[in-house]
Amino acid sequence: MTEGTITHFSYSQLNTYLMCPLRYKLQYVELIQPAFTTAALAFGSAVHEAVAAFYKQHLLGESLRPDQMLDVYRQAWNSRNGADVRFFNGDGEESLREKALQLVTVFHQAFDPAVEVLGMEEFFEVRLTESVPPFHGYIDLIELTPQGRTTIVDLKTAGRKLTKAQVKTNLQLTAYSIGAQALGFDSNDLSLRLDVLTKTKNPEMTRYETTRTDQQRERFTRLTKHVWNSIERECWFPRQDWHCQQCAWAETCAKW
Ligand code: SF4
Repeated sequence: MTEGTITHFSYSQLNTYLMCPLRYKLQYVELIQPAFTTAALAFGSAVHEAVAAFYKQHLLGESLRPDQMLDVYRQAWNSRNGADVRFFNGDGEESLREKALQLVTVFHQAFDPAVEVLGMEEFFEVRLTESVPPFHGYIDLIELTPQGRTTIVDLKTAGRKLTKAQVKTNLQLTAYSIGAQALGFDSNDLSLRLDVLTKTKNPEMTRYETTRTDQQRERFTRLTKHVWNSIERECWFPRQDWHCQQCAWAETCAKW
């Protein structure tokens, strides 16, 4: 590898390689700027900021109303400074803003004020194996439930509900459970949860609870090791699939 010096590894990098090794090369090794940002990505990250702002205020003992959360969404969207956002599936800026208001309202209604927020955007670094650069991540949210159970939460927006299998095998949650261990939490006394805001016609917030075993964490480490090994050997190939429709590196890929 030449251009990009990789000093750490992350779930995003791992997921990108698993989705398409050539895209990984264009994005992380050749450092080619994306031709556009998908509206779904910009939308998801702006909603995420609105929810994060809500939790930050909650930690300070205050609360944000849905209209104030929408202000945060707007600022996050506008802070893209005109970066080329490309819309798909008939979405537009205004329809997404309306959807954002529906989602933050649904989130607001589902929030349980009895839950204690222990941390937000908690950074972790862990050495999975000697051959892989340090693994970095940020845990969206750490909660203490009224029943006294610590819960690690990943917040997401999605186009549809998740299946049981998707929850059970979600690699980001496995990475979070490893990160939680690195932060000193006892993995035997830890719940994991995906809080998913679905941007369907009637938006919903669904909480999916799950756990991870040592065997799943070991498998994750093995997977990361093999992916990193493939990266070091410059094993690049296009993996054409449904995700190509919205790939911001498609033009460069076509010349491969
Ligand atoms: S267009 Fe598809 S195959 Fe090409 S880099 Fe993007 S995701 Fe990979």
